[in-house]
Amino acid sequence: MTWVSDFESGSKAQKDLLGGKGANLAEMTRLGLPVPPGFTISTRACQAYLAQGGDPDGLAAEVDDHLGALERKMGRGLGDADDPLLVSVRSGAKFSMPGMMETVLNVGLNDASVRGLARRSEDPRFAYDSYRRLVQMFGSTVMGVDSDLFAEALDDLKERRGTQADLDLDVDDLRELVATFQRIIRDETGEEFPQAPREQLDRAVRAVFDSWNTDRAVLYRRQERIPEDLGTAVNVQAMVFGNFGMTSGSGVAFTRDPATGDQGVYGDYLQNAQGEDVVAGIRNTVSLEDFAQVDPASHAELLEIMSTLERHYRDMCDIEFTVELGKLWMLQTRVGKRTPEAAFRIAVHMADEGLIDMDEAVRRVTGSQLASLMFPRFDAEADRTLLATGMAASPGAAVGRAVFDWRTAVEWAERGEDVILVRKETSPEDLHGMVVARGILTSRGGKTSHAAVVARGMGRTCVCGAEALDVDTKHGQFVVRGGTTVREGDVISIDGSTGEVFAGAVPVTPSAVVRYFEGEEVDDPLVEAAARIVEHADRNRRLDVRTNADTGEDAARARRFGAQGIGLCRTEHMFLGERRQLVEDLIVADDEAGRAAALEALLPAQRGDFEEILEAMDGLPVTIRLIDPPLHEFLPDITELSVNLALADTKGHRKKRERKLLEAVQRLHEQNPMLGLRGVRLGIAIPGLFEMQARAILEAAAARVRAGGDPRPEIMVPLVGSVRELDLVRRRIEQVAADVQAELGREVDFKVGTMIELPRAALTADEIARSAEFFSFGTNDLTQMTWGFSRDDVEAAFFSTYIEQGVFSVSPFESLDVEGVGQLVRTAVERGRAANPDLHLGVCGEHGGDPHSIHFFDEVGLDYVSCSPFRVPVARLEAARAHL
Ligand code: ADP
Ligand code: MG
Ligand code: MG
Repeated sequence: MTWVSDFESGSKAQKDLLGGKGANLAEMTRLGLPVPPGFTISTRACQAYLAQGGDPDGLAAEVDDHLGALERKMGRGLGDADDPLLVSVRSGAKFSMPGMMETVLNVGLNDASVRGLARRSEDPRFAYDSYRRLVQMFGSTVMGVDSDLFAEALDDLKERRGTQADLDLDVDDLRELVATFQRIIRDETGEEFPQAPREQLDRAVRAVFDSWNTDRAVLYRRQERIPEDLGTAVNVQAMVFGNFGMTSGSGVAFTRDPATGDQGVYGDYLQNAQGEDVVAGIRNTVSLEDFAQVDPASHAELLEIMSTLERHYRDMCDIEFTVELGKLWMLQTRVGKRTPEAAFRIAVHMADEGLIDMDEAVRRVTGSQLASLMFPRFDAEADRTLLATGMAASPGAAVGRAVFDWRTAVEWAERGEDVILVRKETSPEDLHGMVVARGILTSRGGKTSHAAVVARGMGRTCVCGAEALDVDTKHGQFVVRGGTTVREGDVISIDGSTGEVFAGAVPVTPSAVVRYFEGEEVDDPLVEAAARIVEHADRNRRLDVRTNADTGEDAARARRFGAQGIGLCRTEHMFLGERRQLVEDLIVADDEAGRAAALEALLPAQRGDFEEILEAMDGLPVTIRLIDPPLHEFLPDITELSVNLALADTKGHRKKRERKLLEAVQRLHEQNPMLGLRGVRLGIAIPGLFEMQARAILEAAAARVRAGGDPRPEIMVPLVGSVRELDLVRRRIEQVAADVQAELGREVDFKVGTMIELPRAALTADEIARSAEFFSFGTNDLTQMTWGFSRDDVEAAFFSTYIEQGVFSVSPFESLDVEGVGQLVRTAVERGRAANPDLHLGVCGEHGGDPHSIHFFDEVGLDYVSCSPFRVPVARLEAARAHL
């Protein structure tokens, strides 16, 4: 084939070419399941169409051939006036994309063939129901008419008929609706709804191609890091009718509960319904048990098929099906989206059932899913006012101000407000708002509604189908049945694990998974699943995981979370608070004696800090970074100081110390402090400072040895750009070590290494490695220095614009810029190791806890990553996923 292939000839391995939906339709066809026949126009055709701005050569002829074959198979011609073949035109990219065009159903109906279709049944209602759906879908998705206009016309008609239900509209009403919809199209576009079946088909196909480049689709791809050039496939499939009366219907199902992971099928079914009715929340659906009552034979067949699919895919599947006059048809399957909780539980269940092994179970969960399981939950003991209960669609505890449209959500979120997006139901248009909201609340729709599916995919908290809420988006408020009104800006709390909606801000408590990591006994199936997976991960990773911790308390917690040492202990906070005065003394000292006295006073405090940390991490490496930030950060504000002094002057006070301080502050003022006197430069410029810190570290270590401990300090020199800097400092540290040893009469083991956080350090890593026992990549500064971005300024200033414009898809401070900064890391690893094979390598920037970056650090061969205590379990898991 060049552009088109029949369902009979594809397979699930061909997602690149056929898209996910097409590949899985082909797979189900191959398995002999009841799939309405059809064909797939490949992603390659879409790529060619988009590249040349029109149908590629030969596409029309291939569609002719495959459509002809389909017509022969079905014994009907597309859109024939007497007895028409109708088809659906369904988009389907390699990765499922809720931002894409919806499907167009009932293609082939026109003013003539609708009469032919009506003759197929005693009740012609369904034919006109199908036709009004085609005009509506075609009008909005292909011809670009605002979908609200159709929805309003439908609501208007229902109001005139005094009903809320589509099903109460009779055939004449539907005929009228078709005419109304056609008129809307004419008014809005100046064009008629096309009557020629083949024109309908071709235009629908092109609309699917074009939908690849809508803003929503582009945004979604950036978010999900889906490549821009994949294109979408288009599936053309014979229609089956779930709206053929009460022995017909349409449903969705999961082979396991996608919210909790519980074993046992789960689904929604709606009688006499077509297409999206079941997920759109238009009418209330029934469960699969009720479906069993309505149509036992189809139900039994569905269960059989679900079990076949799960064994075949060895994973939880979601399914779309339709029953036409008691005959079951499969319309879609794929490996189903699930909540983080369900992901962990399903993975271990499947391992226990022998469907997969534990390695695969580890591959099937992600660090960010584990991170979301570590989020706090609402405190069950706290006072709370329950407003309503909807469906638990995506877990988490979200608190924020209610907003009722995506624009307000984005605006408020940009100014730093937490918002909850409240809608009747969501559509792809709401995506921007869903991205920035803490949580999503809808009054309609089930666990398979758009809101639920998208929220789960993004890991956003969601409660859907809270029917007691009357949501009025026009006036920006909702009214709870029985009273309370919540207006735009009012704070609400939603619990995506229970479906509860509360007034005000409910306090939150730690998650069960965190309590388990903290060492508590917790009897909970989710905790058991998480524990088993993380234990298996530990046995299968190459990277060690350390933590960034500056206090004994943090170090102890991180150790309980599984940290194998400290990768970064910052010492700057040890100079703040009460000790600030001592630092000021150090800076204003104008002679050697003054400076020595200040340092002497700082020493015991520092030693105490280090002893505590070395004790908490006994037996494990502790990397202590010598003081790093610009010194003036420890000095008083220049304006404040000047004002105080001016006031003192008017009163005739002398204030000698303050005057000296002001002098020092003025002297140390820098235009670009991040590029100024900091890191190793401080150590070299202010004699005695690094020596004091080294002494504190080594004396603390000696004290730990005396106490029977096993301290493993590593002294890390920040911001080195030249090996000469490191040599100078190293020599001084060695001198201190010799002194301490002579004084205490015992040897203390320690290492000296450096951070690699300047491009020059990375490029001269071979020279530096000869003087260092370890490197630790300070990827925050390395990113800042490589891009020339001031980290403290740029993120708020323009990163959202950069992300929108596609300069990058995620902040390089959040996830390592592998192509740019990553090259420096790789270069430094290679040159460093070549010069010093014993060199130990790690990373201590924020990136050490970012899943995507961890995979890169594993690949370039670092020995460990270091991250904040709460990220340690995440890093343990991702380190294994990188390796397995
Ligand atoms: P999405 O990707 O948004 O799920 P689909 O292409 O799966 O869109 O179409 C949505 C729904 O339309 C399906 O779940 C199904 O109910 C209905 N549908 C699609 N094709 C057919 C068909 N050939 N016959 C009957 N219903 C169909
Ligand atoms: Mg579908
Ligand atoms: Mg730094």
